[in-house]
Amino acid sequence: MSDRLPGFSTLAVHAGAQPDPTTGARATPIYQTTSFVFNDADHAASLFGLQAFGNIYTRIGNPTNAVLEERVAALEGGTAALAVASGHAAQVVVLQQLLQPGDEFIAARKLYGGSINQFTHAFKSFGWNVVWADPDDIASFERAVTPRTKAIFIESIANPAGSITDIEAISTVARKAGVPLIVDNTLASPYLIRPIDHGADIVVHSLTKFLGGHGNSIGGIIVDAGTFDWSTGGKYPMLSEPRPEYHGIRLQETFGNFAFAIACRVLGLRDLGPALSPFNAFMILTGIETLPLRMQKHCDNAKAVAEFLAGHPAVAAVNYAGLASDKYHQLARKYAPKGAGAVFTFSLKGGYDAGVSLVSKLQLFSHLANVGDTRSLVIHPASTTHSQLDDAAKVKSGAGPDVVRLSIGIEDKEDLIADLEQALGT
Ligand SMILES: *Cc1c(COP(=O)(O)O)cnc(C)c1O
Repeated sequence: MSDRLPGFSTLAVHAGAQPDPTTGARATPIYQTTSFVFNDADHAASLFGLQAFGNIYTRIGNPTNAVLEERVAALEGGTAALAVASGHAAQVVVLQQLLQPGDEFIAARKLYGGSINQFTHAFKSFGWNVVWADPDDIASFERAVTPRTKAIFIESIANPAGSITDIEAISTVARKAGVPLIVDNTLASPYLIRPIDHGADIVVHSLTKFLGGHGNSIGGIIVDAGTFDWSTGGKYPMLSEPRPEYHGIRLQETFGNFAFAIACRVLGLRDLGPALSPFNAFMILTGIETLPLRMQKHCDNAKAVAEFLAGHPAVAAVNYAGLASDKYHQLARKYAPKGAGAVFTFSLKGGYDAGVSLVSKLQLFSHLANVGDTRSLVIHPASTTHSQLDDAAKVKSGAGPDVVRLSIGIEDKEDLIADLEQALGT
């Protein structure tokens, strides 16, 4: 073997996987089992006491899921990862390690609609308070910091308009405040942006989207960059203080630069329970093998469709950072030089009614609430994903009444453009 470091496409196919030692199976098997036999009583005791790593019970870990975890950690450049049942579960498990009741976290206002809901309503019942900031105004993050701030949460490419976030600038604010920066990298995938390279401490994903890539499996993952010092100032007791669940061990002291991933597993996943099915892990692993090929095609198609729409008389505006005229184009060139993703919005001169009409006339595009499928998708956010927001908040989050969101698939771009052309009624 040469000592070359493997490239991204090689890692996407191989990282974390080996031929099965028992059967020789080349694809990663689905270890469809709830539990694992211990070697002997001492082995069992050491697994339960965190003195040894190994399989106990699929709620806490599974060999198929472990391959997925190692693969995504390698693609993101992190020290370790933890797969969970959904993107939303990843967000709950991450914040449970960081926040005590009464604490705050700062979140970018431009987020996936479901995350806005989760942060505003569900997290309130845990006593976790979200403070919103504007990702286009870095100073708004600085102003939002208080002694109770425990984390900052942003999306790298933000839903729904595909805007690009200045990760480095916000990581500087996080560093100054002494809190970790969490980046939801779902819309970019590590093929386009690796947030850890730009100062992120934790990366989360909905694996449901581009990583799985085929619209067939829900999943989520947490990647630990291994960069944050959890011991300072007693701010993060889950990581720095003795844990009564595990004979008083301190996770940071014991596990060093992957302590956060361990905390998410042994305190979050073990006790909250949102485990990923090994079957879904297998489906998502298979999807990841072609991530670089799919993602490039998604981006190339999205650029062609955005250019077509920008020249169409029925279209008022196109928000796609891959267009040279776009407000986020410079940030796209810096953070996502291979392509600005495949999710973007545009607005129609005919407003709300034109949006509804377009959605009903499209044939190749599927009208549904998802992104990151091989198939091209369309939705009208104001009446669906962002409908819970009031009108001002809709506009602020990029989901005004005249806005249509597309997630461009990997079909032939000429067919996508022809479908839009007939639906726009030229
Ligand atoms: C879909 C999505 C989520 C939530 O993920 P689920 O797997 O649906 O729970 C979070 N963030 C972004 C950006 C998403 O697109």
